[in-house]
Amino acid sequence: MSAKKPAPRPKPSAAGRPAGATNREYDEVESAPTRCRQCGSTSRSAYFGRNTVVQMGEHEGRPYNRIVWRRCRCEACGQHRFDKSFELEPE
Ligand SMILES: [Zn+2]
Repeated sequence: MSAKKPAPRPKPSAAGRPAGATNREYDEVESAPTRCRQCGSTSRSAYFGRNTVVQMGEHEGRPYNRIVWRRCRCEACGQHRFDKSFELEPE
C-alpha cells in the first residue's frame, strides 16, 4: 500500500492576478514581418546591432522621426540583411 502525498497546493499569492490589478485592454494592430529578398522567408535571427538616423518625414502616410536599421540573418537561407523601419518616438 502506497501512501499518496497530497498534491502541493499553489500558494494563494501565486494564483490569479495580484490584488488591485485590473484587466488590461489590448489594442490589436497589424505588423508586417520583414522578408528575405533571396528566398521570401520571414523567419529571421534575433536582431544584432542597430543604426539610427534622426530624420523627420512621412512614410506610407505615417509620420516618423527615426529611421532605424537592424541587422539580422535569414533563418531559411542564411542571407544577411538590414531591416529598415520608420519609427516615431515621443520627443
Ligand atoms: Zn532567405
